[in-house]
Amino acid sequence: MIPPGRLTASARLLLFRQGRILLNGGEVFWSARTADPLLGENPRLLPVAGNCFAADLSGGDEKESRSLRSLLFSENDVELELLSRASQLVHWQRTHRFCGLCGESTRPGETDRVLECVACGHLFFPRINPCVIVLVTRGGEILLARSARYRSGFYSCLAGFIEIGETPEQTLSREVREEVGLEVGNIRYAQSQSWPFPSQLMLGFLADYRGGEIVPEPGEIEDARWFPVSDLPNIPSSKISVAGRLIEDYVRSRQKHL
Ligand SMILES: [Zn+2]
Repeated sequence: MIPPGRLTASARLLLFRQGRILLNGGEVFWSARTADPLLGENPRLLPVAGNCFAADLSGGDEKESRSLRSLLFSENDVELELLSRASQLVHWQRTHRFCGLCGESTRPGETDRVLECVACGHLFFPRINPCVIVLVTRGGEILLARSARYRSGFYSCLAGFIEIGETPEQTLSREVREEVGLEVGNIRYAQSQSWPFPSQLMLGFLADYRGGEIVPEPGEIEDARWFPVSDLPNIPSSKISVAGRLIEDYVRSRQKHL
């Protein structure tokens, strides 16, 4: 972590408080000069990338702020990759203030990407949670489901966290079986995405339908069905989500066949 003296005039800062991004007159980025009054005596500045740094502020007066989610879903042309990375680093630091082994405080370690226990020296690295997201296909149809958590009328791919000891392929087969009662095969990796809520790595796959009838998992899946690629419901935007890109790419590949 960088002492503030090393910040140059061109440095750009992202300031967080309680997990929200503080705005600087409507902008997400602050200069070292404009951020200075807010940073206090010994701020921990987390290098994000290039000349961009993040800081997690505690206390202080109320400033205009936005959630990362609201920025992600806004039409504003913000640098989402930097915001996403900064948010994940700040979340990691906020949730590793104390050592899980001995309970003492942690401090920045030798490199920028490690926190070290002041007492026992245990090291804490940023944690990423891998997930699979899968588009199950049956020729000209795709399986889409709606979770109870989605906005109404909104469908997406199935997804789930990789459990300890599983390969992504095993997770995928288990999740599809649990959530909709289907068997799949010909599992192949397609593309991935970092998803900062709070720190997922979404691994996007395609899989072919092999058998079974759709049985939505009670409490998890409100509805799941086969949609013809020519008649889709509201789906996630391909601009921001790997689910949207998986669907869009498959639909495009099918249209070439027609
Ligand atoms: Zn410790």
